[in-house]
Amino acid sequence: MSEKIERVKTLILGSGPAGYTAAIYAARADLKPIMYTGMEPGGQLTTTTEVDNFPGYPEGIDGPTMMVQLQQQAERFGTEVRIGMATAVDFSNEVGGIHKVTIDDSIVIEAETVIISTGATAKYLNIPSEQRLRGGGVSACAVCDGFFYKGQDVAIVGGGDTAAEEASYLANICNKVTMLVRKDFMRASKAMQHRVNSLPNIDLRYNSEVDEVLGEQVVEGLRIVNNKTGEKEEIPITGFFVAIGHKPNTEIFKGQLEMDETGYLITPGKSTKTSRPGVFASGDVQDKEYRQAVTAAGTGCMAALDAERYLATIETPQEVS
Ligand code: NDP
Repeated sequence: MSEKIERVKTLILGSGPAGYTAAIYAARADLKPIMYTGMEPGGQLTTTTEVDNFPGYPEGIDGPTMMVQLQQQAERFGTEVRIGMATAVDFSNEVGGIHKVTIDDSIVIEAETVIISTGATAKYLNIPSEQRLRGGGVSACAVCDGFFYKGQDVAIVGGGDTAAEEASYLANICNKVTMLVRKDFMRASKAMQHRVNSLPNIDLRYNSEVDEVLGEQVVEGLRIVNNKTGEKEEIPITGFFVAIGHKPNTEIFKGQLEMDETGYLITPGKSTKTSRPGVFASGDVQDKEYRQAVTAAGTGCMAALDAERYLATIETPQEVS
């Protein structure tokens, strides 16, 4: 296969708040960034409804609109945004070395600096009945698929902010939402818990886990089990939503960049530097603690500043004494 090769100063992988903020800063610093959006242009926020906690939007803003605006802002300063997915990487170990990133198995980008903002992907329970019925009533995105279950009975599993937010969203559309939390408490913030508790059509079940998703072609019900008593119960539902957290998108960086035991890229201290010089990471791919749009944007800014400083040092070699 003939490969197209292109040389750039700064390559940005991923198009969530981290990637776009890195792009805005990198473009303004004249690093002429090229961004590849990845499989989900706009990132996770395109699957959310209202973003109420990003500073500067007193009335809130819906996720997809926010991401379009971020893209426009990045493009205004000269970022080239391209649809495409990094499929292989060959990062240099040398300061000033050139990093090679293959896009869609066909284009090789040679980059002086790379900013990784590839984010994270939704996790599933990974039980056979759930996997079999994905696309047949099992979904990991209430905002994307909730509409299909308008007026019906659904269930959601998870006890974090995502589950609480999605349960509230579903409660507005659906007849009844059964929410399954495996512990006897929710991990979600107090504000989100309050929202869940205030909605009369959310049936919150603690100590409850999914035993099996019922149905042949489409979801028809759920067998749940109380993990304290062992008691099983079948509930009729047509939609089953999984909201149990995310996995960082770092598969292609394995063996090249240092990661923790759960696959998050390691960026020591206050910097966005990875274990290879000139390769930086920002957003959810390196942050399993805060994982907010605003913190992702903050680290995107840091990554662009780190890239700019790195390029300044290699373009102005230190005098040897
Ligand atoms: P979290 O990791 O915070 O929560 C995951 C939830 O899923 C936990 O309740 C966990 O249970 C449960 N869980 C995990 N695995 C299983 C399993 N196999 N079976 C049943 N339950 C399971 O993920 P979130 O996606 O909710 O949130 C991620 C981050 O994003 C958090 O920092 C959150 O605050 C933030 N966020 C903020 C929002 C906002 O501010 N508007 C909206 C959404 C997310 P257990 O507690 O027992 O481990």
